[in-house]
Amino acid sequence: MKLIFRGIVQGVGFRPTIYRIAKKLGLKGYVLNKGSEVEVVIDKNIEKFIKELKSELPSIAKITSIEKIPDKSNFLDFKILHSKFGTRHSQVPADVGICNSCIEELFDKNNKRYFFPFTNCTVCGARYSLIKDVPYDRERTSMDDFTLCDSCKKEYIDPLNKRYHAQTISCRKCGPSYRLYDKNKKEIGSKNVIKRFAKEIDAGKIGVIKSWGGMHLCCSIDEIPRFRKWYNRPEKAFALMVKDINVAKKFGEMNSEEKKLLLSKSKPIVLLKKKKCEIASPGLNTIGLFLPYTGLHYILFEYVSSDALVMTSANVPGEAMITTDKEAFSIDADFYLLHNRIIPNRVDDSVVRLWKNNRFFLRKSRGYVPDPLKVDYDEHIVSVGAGENITGAFSSDKQIFTTQYIGNSKYYSTVEFLESALKHLMSLTMKKKKIDAVVQDLHPGYDSRIVAKKISNEFSAPLYEIQHHWAHAASLLIDREIDKCVTLSVDGLGYGSDGNFWGGEVLNCDFEDFSRVGHLEYIPLIGGDAATHDPRRLVFAIMKNFDKEMYFTGSEAEVFSKLIKKSPLSSSLGRILDAIACYLEICQKRTYDGEPAMKLEKYLVTGNPKYNFEVEVKDGVLQTIDLFRQLDQYVKGSLTESKKADLSYSMVKSIIDSLTNIAIENANKNKIKNIGITGGVSYNIPITNMVERQVKKSKLKLIVHNSVCNGDGGISIGQNVIIGKKLKT
Ligand SMILES: [Zn+2]
Ligand SMILES: [Zn+2]
Repeated sequence: MKLIFRGIVQGVGFRPTIYRIAKKLGLKGYVLNKGSEVEVVIDKNIEKFIKELKSELPSIAKITSIEKIPDKSNFLDFKILHSKFGTRHSQVPADVGICNSCIEELFDKNNKRYFFPFTNCTVCGARYSLIKDVPYDRERTSMDDFTLCDSCKKEYIDPLNKRYHAQTISCRKCGPSYRLYDKNKKEIGSKNVIKRFAKEIDAGKIGVIKSWGGMHLCCSIDEIPRFRKWYNRPEKAFALMVKDINVAKKFGEMNSEEKKLLLSKSKPIVLLKKKKCEIASPGLNTIGLFLPYTGLHYILFEYVSSDALVMTSANVPGEAMITTDKEAFSIDADFYLLHNRIIPNRVDDSVVRLWKNNRFFLRKSRGYVPDPLKVDYDEHIVSVGAGENITGAFSSDKQIFTTQYIGNSKYYSTVEFLESALKHLMSLTMKKKKIDAVVQDLHPGYDSRIVAKKISNEFSAPLYEIQHHWAHAASLLIDREIDKCVTLSVDGLGYGSDGNFWGGEVLNCDFEDFSRVGHLEYIPLIGGDAATHDPRRLVFAIMKNFDKEMYFTGSEAEVFSKLIKKSPLSSSLGRILDAIACYLEICQKRTYDGEPAMKLEKYLVTGNPKYNFEVEVKDGVLQTIDLFRQLDQYVKGSLTESKKADLSYSMVKSIIDSLTNIAIENANKNKIKNIGITGGVSYNIPITNMVERQVKKSKLKLIVHNSVCNGDGGISIGQNVIIGKKLKT
């Protein structure tokens, strides 16, 4: 019998497992790697063989299908045959944190990989970040610069060794190595460099560390104040890398699922309820923690005196993380710990938070990309996402592959990165040299459109535009494999079909079309984007309706008053949250993306519905401006922390309940069973809780994200699936 296995079956220890089982069962035949699939011929015990294989499957392997073809060939023995080029749509494995058995070797004095920072095996190590082409073989990765020594080669060709055909293995003798550079970018050695670097970190220095898919800035927790000044990030939350799970428990509260996620092979940054270290995430109720995932990280924690370090992507906010020595040296850090393996694919750390065991990906990158999503169309479609938190997506062979996190398209380097990441993904997964369609956002100002236009021209492929909040909703539908949903599509800003900026939308939609059944009242954004960066402008514009001038006086107030009439309009819930945070003096200045709304979350967590807000809905439009008049009346007198919490909770709850009710009403009218929530605001746990409570009362089902980013990182998937289903043949 011939068996064809498809899935993640390449470079993950699949063939050695097959070899071992076949030998154990006394089978005759062969196993052959054919790029995208693995072919096995065996003479007997088919079902037993498959059962054993499934139970002994290497941790990162995944079988998506098994095809059985009668084959009566005779063999004398069981053999592993050499790789052949297969079709190109092979599944590319994601990076996997160093496994426990490799960690043991790392700390075993008698092991040849003792304290060797690049230790990995068939089931762990960098993958996606170093793959240049498929099939996934060493010569098509950035390990091709390092020739295996005899001893490593022995491991590589021994089918019973844990490093059999592990493409990225090496040792101190033949592998990459770290070097230390000082402030003047002068190399100060290659001996004991990790120990020396650790000593500098302990002494309060700021260091750059080259990792698998990019560079981190690293310093001790005590140095955070200086680090914030130096890096010009006065308030932004920094993730901490902690030595182990017990240390993690000191910094953040976790349930068993969150613990599992922290320890999972992808080793993402997990947002947890903060227990201590306010300085790492000022004003927020959460803290981002992650565990070491490379040999280097483990060795570093052996040498530094603290058990937690700031470990944050080295980049300009919104721009792509740096990957080369030259870029690293432009940062002007105190020390640089760099290695000599190039980084073909930059991958940032992934960031996840859990809501009732659903994964909300704030950033889906290392450890998860390209992680394909199943769809029912075969068309090759390229989609380029929106403007911020961009990802690109490409569909091939009934799957959507997404790029790693790209960044903000207003930077030229990010636009270039979007194009190269998409093209790389296409080259890895494309079956035919044809693109059936390219999809972009409606917003005329997004530079991701440059990439869309270019690819559309190159391949003479038609170009489509999809409305932002519909794309969000479609990304939720495909995430949960449903066809229809009335969705709260709530976020910062997205270009609406009427030319205004949407973001507080109730959409009745499927993959074919959507209707806007409700939304928040339009408010003017004084100075457009400037109002996003300065929430005081939002409040100023709102309070002018009640003849009250706030924050600005004199000529400035005069100019703003005039500007109100000419300003773009927005129905965004994110902006309303910003305005509430501003009005209640929780955050009046935005220093990073989403800051006011994120800081508001802390108050929503502790607040109670003590105040009554009367919400009026006129023809599906929820009147938000009048809510600020009501807020203004409640605020009279002193504003204590608990009053801030109760007021923000009461006001936000009245908005969310009302939006959810619009959705429920429409769903009942149209006999739709599901209410969804998507968009950046849905990361907000208290808000999602409010929606859930309201939906529960209606006996409908609440749909939330689990695999696709809630925020704009999921837009490319929504765009792809809408056009894919439209063009499906
Ligand atoms: Zn390993
Ligand atoms: Zn070696």
